[in-house]
Amino acid sequence: MIMKNDKTNSNGKSEMKESELTDFFIDGLKDIYWAEKHLAKALKKMEKAATSDKLKEAFSSHQIETEEQISRIEEVFNLMDRTARGKKCAAMAGLIEEAEELIEETEKGSMVRDVALIAAAQKIEHYEIATYGTLATLASVLGSEKIKNILGEILEEEKAADIKLTELATSNVNEAAMQD
Ligand code: FE
Ligand code: FE
Ligand code: ZN
Ligand code: FE
Repeated sequence: MIMKNDKTNSNGKSEMKESELTDFFIDGLKDIYWAEKHLAKALKKMEKAATSDKLKEAFSSHQIETEEQISRIEEVFNLMDRTARGKKCAAMAGLIEEAEELIEETEKGSMVRDVALIAAAQKIEHYEIATYGTLATLASVLGSEKIKNILGEILEEEKAADIKLTELATSNVNEAAMQD
């Protein structure tokens, strides 16, 4: 990986040409940076929209975790000697839009609202899991264990968030079915 120190030779001049793979990695980083920033806002709306306290709590804690993930992505940009900058993630924009639609289409205070929110949130987590999995592998291929570890940590948080949602879904879907 093209790190700060790799860039300068003994004369202190930048010499190493950046590979296309590094560019591809940076693009992916910009994409997930944009995605996480927008998700941080969306999770606040999802928390407000949720019916059960358990789901509100799950969104709230993942929102805080998301803010920390944003800081760690900034750290990765820094390690790459790049300015942290986002690039619109069409996938996350669509997933958030879908979540907003589901909020409009379901009744406030209903269990079905929660079932819909959990479904939307799990699609988001799965997108994040795929993205961080790829980025962590790329970081490893590019030779940065440190960056690989940071992205690997975030990946584990996304997996844990997904598992938590699955647990909530199991109990919520059952309750929603009983209400009908
Ligand atoms: Fe995230
Ligand atoms: Fe993306
Ligand atoms: Zn994208
Ligand atoms: Fe997440």
